Amino acid sequence: MEILTNFDLLRYGRLANRERERRHGDRAYYVINFHLNPTNICVYRCMFCAFRRDEGEAGAYFFEVPHAVEHCVEAHRRLGFTEIHMVGGMHPTRHWEYSLDLLRALKAALPQVHLKAFTAVEIQFFARVTGLPVEAVLERMVDAGLDSLPGGGAEIFAPRVRRAICAEKASAEEWLSVHRLAHRMGLKSTSTMLYGHIERPEEVVDHILRIRDLQDETSGFNVFIPLAFHPENTNFESTRRPTTGLRDLKMLVLSRLLLDNVSHIKAYWIMLGEKLSQVALSFGVDDFDGTVGEEKITHMAGATTPQELPTERIRRIIREAGRVPVQRDSLYDLLEMAGVA
Ligand code: SF4
Repeated sequence: MEILTNFDLLRYGRLANRERERRHGDRAYYVINFHLNPTNICVYRCMFCAFRRDEGEAGAYFFEVPHAVEHCVEAHRRLGFTEIHMVGGMHPTRHWEYSLDLLRALKAALPQVHLKAFTAVEIQFFARVTGLPVEAVLERMVDAGLDSLPGGGAEIFAPRVRRAICAEKASAEEWLSVHRLAHRMGLKSTSTMLYGHIERPEEVVDHILRIRDLQDETSGFNVFIPLAFHPENTNFESTRRPTTGLRDLKMLVLSRLLLDNVSHIKAYWIMLGEKLSQVALSFGVDDFDGTVGEEKITHMAGATTPQELPTERIRRIIREAGRVPVQRDSLYDLLEMAGVA
């Protein structure tokens, strides 16, 4: 595991860049998307979470379906996004039927918009509260309008870490099982890893290799996203500092080099910042995420990045990195190449 601690960034970065260019040439992808977090009320208490609240606590919120839909329709008029990325807390009572109603209403209001919604943790929670098998939960959600799954909730798979930071929610095996079942049903999903808290180097490598193993089995992940932990307003506020740029780049490089079977590596600019994400486009990264629209989760943990980026700003960031901006859809089909001439 020396590679994570004694890592020559430029040497391995060149290798990761070569691999990135072999796969994607000069293209750098982005999506015009919008984040919807319908509630931050959550029955779980993950140690790293600055977003969650108890019902009735100051700062707790819950969007009724009409309000959530109206909010998205209004934002769509302004932003013209192609994807809604929707994740939220595990509400103690408004969970399963509410989520189906929300999917149906969003799909009816914005039929052309891809709904990437509900992490494996949420899917597992719905299975727990309804007693339905995970397959049945997924089937009902697809019928209601679900198009793909986001990759949140993976954190770090190692049991030692999960026991310490998120003991209540879906285990690593449950997270992987939800994605396996989704892939078998033909759904695509994204994959993530949260680093910068209590994980050890060998647990990072184990996490990435477990993603690679499932990808060998299903080919259902379309991207891997290393997520840099923001400690502000969390239980780690006094004991952990935010990650550094060098660490962030190393995670991206390592991910590109280890995940030979995942096409895309994403720099999530909300967590990394615009400038480091731009640099990352030469360190194994080919995907800049997107406009985002309205980010709450990382900003409640102290992120100082904007809550959204205009498309033209993203294109400029990509162009100035020497890459060609390519607008993609949620499944990485090409929608538009900008500024090629
Ligand atoms: S990370 Fe998700 S599951 Fe954990 S407390 Fe926060 S909202 Fe709840």
